[in-house]
Amino acid sequence: MASEREESRRLLIRGGSVVTEEGVRRADVLVVGERIAAVADDLGSAAADVDEVVAAEGLLVMPGFVDSHTHLDCPSDGPSTCDDFDTGTRAALAGGTTTIVDFAFQTDGSLLAGHDEWMRKAAGRAHLDYGFHMAIVDPTPQALAEIPELVDRGVTSFKAFMCELDGSLLGEQALAVILDGLKESGGLLQVHAEDGAEILRIAEGVRDRDPRSPIGHALSHPVSVEVAAVRQVIDLSRRTGQPVFVVHVSSAEAVDEIERAQREGLPVHAETCVHYLTLTVDELAREGFEGAKFVCSPPLRGASDQERLWEALRSGVLRICTSDHCPYNYTDKELGREDFTKIPAGLPTIEHRLNLLWEFGVTRDRLSPSELVRVAATEPARTFGLSGKGDLAVGYDADIVLFDPEGSSYLSAEHQNMNVDYSAFEGVRCAGEVVRVISRGESVFADGKVLSRPGRGRYLARGRSPLGRDEVA
Ligand SMILES: [Zn+2]
Repeated sequence: MASEREESRRLLIRGGSVVTEEGVRRADVLVVGERIAAVADDLGSAAADVDEVVAAEGLLVMPGFVDSHTHLDCPSDGPSTCDDFDTGTRAALAGGTTTIVDFAFQTDGSLLAGHDEWMRKAAGRAHLDYGFHMAIVDPTPQALAEIPELVDRGVTSFKAFMCELDGSLLGEQALAVILDGLKESGGLLQVHAEDGAEILRIAEGVRDRDPRSPIGHALSHPVSVEVAAVRQVIDLSRRTGQPVFVVHVSSAEAVDEIERAQREGLPVHAETCVHYLTLTVDELAREGFEGAKFVCSPPLRGASDQERLWEALRSGVLRICTSDHCPYNYTDKELGREDFTKIPAGLPTIEHRLNLLWEFGVTRDRLSPSELVRVAATEPARTFGLSGKGDLAVGYDADIVLFDPEGSSYLSAEHQNMNVDYSAFEGVRCAGEVVRVISRGESVFADGKVLSRPGRGRYLARGRSPLGRDEVA
């Protein structure tokens, strides 16, 4: 029967260098059905008995990458993000990402309704496996009472924004209420740490002087508002003993605060995103309105911030590097031509995280290949309770990337799979090339083409984060 054959289809990847967080070694990988059945020095004796042999001499064999911070088909005050679960996950696959955790938002006051809504958005569209975090914008008692059921549904991490989003500003008090609501179920709270009230205050003055320059956005989000918010989050963790996870850390000073908290033994965790490692605030000062292409929150920072972020990623102070893919067309960014505060904030990055980490990280000696796998595959899977993802080991899902370090990749709007009318990395050439991507045993990208189909991705009910309360205590 066809389905049984499919279930036991055998694929042998021969002669590659297998990269895991532990190291790099020459090994063969045997895939049976959707899982990894063996990883060993020489599985040549199995070759006669397989459906397909993939020659991987000279290639790196890495686990499928895990992006735990994406915003597909996400509404905002203005336009929705311009990649949906079809186009966005296609682009992710082309770049070596085989699993995402996207952000669902509380809808009509309800967290469960928000989860239902995002499940609908993804159903029939996603090309890869996906889970959801839940963004809480209005922590009412009714909403918080829904948390245990969300955890049962596999939504084990939550997010709060301390900055403006649909007009809502969550202060320290509201965060404390959410943390209390998460106590019983052990859900992990992620925080967008920028002091929203302060941003609004500063933006008014900047706008009065010059409303039309995109750089105004960065001037309105100085490092000080990130640092102030990070301090509040750390204080909260100190007072409650509960873990917190700071998303998209952008500045050296914020890293310093987080490292101090970790030395103190506090369960304070954090990520950065690929654009903070590879672009600087100088992009916002481009001629005319071009800088709008680079508007995101927190904003891009300086070169010395970048070096600190790389170093913290390597040392583990920052656990993870995500994309924070939040794409808007340049034509949508036009909404802010007369008033920079109206520029939709976010960058298209889901497709190029591996390319960029390789070029700006590995080839420049800031990360080893194993460290790259750790921060972009293994650690995000571990942190967010994605069992069976993020590693190349027996029993894991056969999500595999074949990468040619001798190849090269040219990034441009014309050649990208993302449904966006510009590239934040136009004309950048990266060393290395994604040659083939396998998702649960199926080749979904090869020879520069996505071979997948919408709807083949599965919803992942996630387990509790090991950073959750009980394990840390
Ligand atoms: Zn985000």
